Amino acid sequence: MKKQRQLKQVIDSVQTLEGGGFPIRRPFPTRTMNYFDPFLLFDHMGPVDWPPNQAIGAPDHPHRGFETVTYMLEGHMQHKDSHGNKGDLNPGDVQWMTAGAGIVHSELPREDFLKSGGVMNGIQLWVNLPAEKKMTRPRYQDIPSDKLPTATSADGKVWVRVIAGESMGVNAVIDTHIPIIYLHFKIQPGGQVTQSIPDGLNAFLYILTGQLTIADSENAVTEAQMAVLSEGDAVRVSVPAQASEEASFVLLAGPPLNEPVARYGPFVMNTQREIYQAIEDFRAGRMGEIAPEL
Ligand code: MN
Repeated sequence: MKKQRQLKQVIDSVQTLEGGGFPIRRPFPTRTMNYFDPFLLFDHMGPVDWPPNQAIGAPDHPHRGFETVTYMLEGHMQHKDSHGNKGDLNPGDVQWMTAGAGIVHSELPREDFLKSGGVMNGIQLWVNLPAEKKMTRPRYQDIPSDKLPTATSADGKVWVRVIAGESMGVNAVIDTHIPIIYLHFKIQPGGQVTQSIPDGLNAFLYILTGQLTIADSENAVTEAQMAVLSEGDAVRVSVPAQASEEASFVLLAGPPLNEPVARYGPFVMNTQREIYQAIEDFRAGRMGEIAPEL
């Protein structure tokens, strides 16, 4: 018999600007919650409907000591980095980037998207690395949506895209440094799913649209809320039959690293000294730069 996780806490997102000034909704980090071990940041970018030539991204900037995971829902981004990698992010695509010892990259609206304008919507998650892996070699996993496994329940009411971990008998193709579960669910009114989440992992849901009920909770959680789960080894999520729309949400889980977190902007290390070193290395060009297009 599985021990059900319950809804432990609901956290409302704050609205702010990130990168070159694009709007995001952010459950953490905030003044009240610096991180949710092993996750350092969760940004819901948009949805924002950009007029032509207005879309904003994040120009050249460095990272060290963790992983950035970008999941596009709508719109088109383009990334470039100091290792010569370049690629598009289209709806449903995931870029799992291990910054490790350091990279410089840019995350910008694709040129034709910038010109035409349109809806941009996505998620950026930062996953911490344990101390012994913070200076690991940078690694890219760029996975287009048609290579990301999905599953649908027998009654057709539950759909899941498996970004990391396992769900409904389907395993992820993305390799992670620590055991992460990252699932995108869509549940129709009257649908429900029980997802196993091994005991000992910290877990939460973030609701993109609609509303849903977690375990035996009386109150539904809704758009832009983070739902922190209690301990246990599974969670039951359902959408009331009388709901007016499907619920779309992501489920994240990972093992707490229980290590000190020293963070300064795009660098997340264990000590202040390592932060100074990161700033120095970046300034000295030791994280590289993005080569100009010829
Ligand atoms: Mn970045």
